[in-house]
Amino acid sequence: MTSTFNPKPVPVVHSMNEAFFEGSAKGELRVGHCPKCDALFRFAYYLCPECWSQDLSWKKAKGTGRISHFTIIHQAPWEAFEADAPYTLALIELDEGVRMMSNIINFPPEKVKIGLPVKVVFEQRGDIALPMFEVIEG
Ligand SMILES: [Zn+2]
Repeated sequence: MTSTFNPKPVPVVHSMNEAFFEGSAKGELRVGHCPKCDALFRFAYYLCPECWSQDLSWKKAKGTGRISHFTIIHQAPWEAFEADAPYTLALIELDEGVRMMSNIINFPPEKVKIGLPVKVVFEQRGDIALPMFEVIEG
């Protein structure tokens, strides 16, 4: 059996997430913002989850937060992720109060704990810069 090149999947960029990934390309983690009620939320909403306004914008987040939930993936769902296993998939609660799902990288999965402080780093995958998180140590 011959091995085939099997790259990791890349998100599809569309009108609802385009500004998010434009920020990622510049090293900015962006969260959705509602100018009407000042709510912050993760992408990609087309309505404010608080007041239902459709006039939405984006804000640059600090890029720091804490691990609020996590699981360790031992069996990769796709061949492209097999070399990474075991790896940590986590919900990150950003300092702005917005939760987002990402991976914890460059940190042993067996040492991951709820509440650990993390900061965003960007992994280039094709044309897309994907937000990942590293544990802030010390
Ligand atoms: Zn709103």
